[in-house]
Amino acid sequence: MPQLSNTQLFGGWGRSPSSASALLPTDEDPAVKLDALAEFVASAPDGTRLLARGMGRSYGDAANCAGGYVSTHYDFRDIFEFNPTSEELRASSGFSLDEIMRRLIPEGYFVYVTPGTRYVTLGGAIAADIHGKNHHKDGSFINHVESFELITPSSRIEVNRSDPLFWATAGGMGMTGIITAATIRLKKVQTSYIKVTTQKTLNVSETIEMMQRLDDSFTYSVAWMDSLASGNSLGRSVITWGEHASEADLEPKLADNPLSYGPSVKLKAPDIAPSWLLNMASIRAFNEAWYRKAPKNKVSIESIPAYFHPLDAVSDWNRLYGRTGFLQYQFQVPLGQEETLISIIHRFSRNRTPSFLSVLKRFGPSSSGHLSFPQPGWTLALDIPIRTKGLSELLDGIDFQVAEAGGRVYFAKDSRLIPELVPKMYPRLDEWRDVVEKSDPKGIFLSDLGRRLSLRSGEVKKASLVETLGAAIGKGPNL
Ligand SMILES: Cc1cc2nc3c(=O)[nH]c(=O)nc-3n(C[C@H](O)[C@H](O)[C@H](O)COP(=O)(O)OP(=O)(O)OC[C@H]3O[C@@H](n4cnc5c(N)ncnc54)[C@H](O)[C@@H]3O)c2cc1C
Repeated sequence: MPQLSNTQLFGGWGRSPSSASALLPTDEDPAVKLDALAEFVASAPDGTRLLARGMGRSYGDAANCAGGYVSTHYDFRDIFEFNPTSEELRASSGFSLDEIMRRLIPEGYFVYVTPGTRYVTLGGAIAADIHGKNHHKDGSFINHVESFELITPSSRIEVNRSDPLFWATAGGMGMTGIITAATIRLKKVQTSYIKVTTQKTLNVSETIEMMQRLDDSFTYSVAWMDSLASGNSLGRSVITWGEHASEADLEPKLADNPLSYGPSVKLKAPDIAPSWLLNMASIRAFNEAWYRKAPKNKVSIESIPAYFHPLDAVSDWNRLYGRTGFLQYQFQVPLGQEETLISIIHRFSRNRTPSFLSVLKRFGPSSSGHLSFPQPGWTLALDIPIRTKGLSELLDGIDFQVAEAGGRVYFAKDSRLIPELVPKMYPRLDEWRDVVEKSDPKGIFLSDLGRRLSLRSGEVKKASLVETLGAAIGKGPNL
């Protein structure tokens, strides 16, 4: 058994919190490494904790394992086999979507689901069951996964869609075992460009109305919202709908090489950015300028990185928030809860919560993942500097509002939710626990997120904290 000697601090993309774990040694030969890993997991003594980690793009403590072992994506990078006939890719879980796109977009294939960054691994994409701008059409990542290989304490097996472990792993945030490789379906595209329709809205009601009316006519849809706007402009947004461009859509210069793809990093953020760099004034000015600059209504051709991953052009942009860092608050409320959504946007605006571009999307049908985040409705994500005054109280109150509306907070972004709200937000939690209990009875695969939210144990249900907090914000706990 490896010693807990190679200890390092691991944190999330929000730069807070972090915890110390031992990095498992990497063997030169991946096959030897995986056999050794499976053996290590099978014979791990009681109390051992272990977690697989991708590129650390989850914001909070989902990829942290305090006092345990961490296996990183560098361990899983030997297989990459694309079959154009079946349009399926078999790849090791450590490959990032960036690498998959660089290899396969020039061949005319794109991933079905991409998040707002391409620097996520196949393993991280499955574990969080990530969503993109096309959830209303194509669902979440797991919808396009045929099977994956999983190391659990009892086995190293190929898990397919008929196995409950498949659905416990999709959204299970690494706590069902280690995904070593997966088979995913890819989408055929004619070009590496997106035909983008941009529409500016005056306020949140217009944003909601337009997305409800028009989203189904497009594959991709997202609204970038000014969270600091207020009054009649509350929730004013710029909606961009997208469709894969055909060759005929391209002007001659681009049509010469329609599948060209080679995104580059244009800037690198310094590590010495002071915490006040992204403060209320600068964030307000940015939101204002960006909203004003957007065309009222326009159709244009954009590259895949420009439309899907604009932030990736600045490497390590999370450093701009300074050493204190930031958090991303992403929640979801079901269809029919538009008033709740508007009331939450109003709370953010009233509390003058600075968010450097907030993102609103509409979700379609859920996957069968027990803990998958998306369900039909609306999701809003805000990046908020940690130093924001009154932030904890504000978000604690909104958590209750979200839970009461039948919504949930996204584990991949979370660092602060309380465990008492989780069974309400994720009603299939007990089903997930039953599956995980069978495959990992000793609870080896437990992240800091899992510990904080008591995901593996059912002890915390209605603690007094819930009542205290519920009363404090003037809302009964009603859980
Ligand atoms: C700029 C930005 C934009 C984003 N936009 C979106 C978005 O639009 N939609 C969305 O859904 N998410 C989004 N995310 C979140 C991101 O997609 C997820 O957090 C994703 O899981 C990160 O993948 P990763 O490889 O970095 O995994 P990590 O962050 O390292 O780990 C995430 C989880 O996956 C588990 N895991 C990782 N590898 C394995 C493995 N091999 N086996 C088992 N478990 C594993 C970890 O234990 C952990 O619980 C965004 C993040 C950033 C930084």
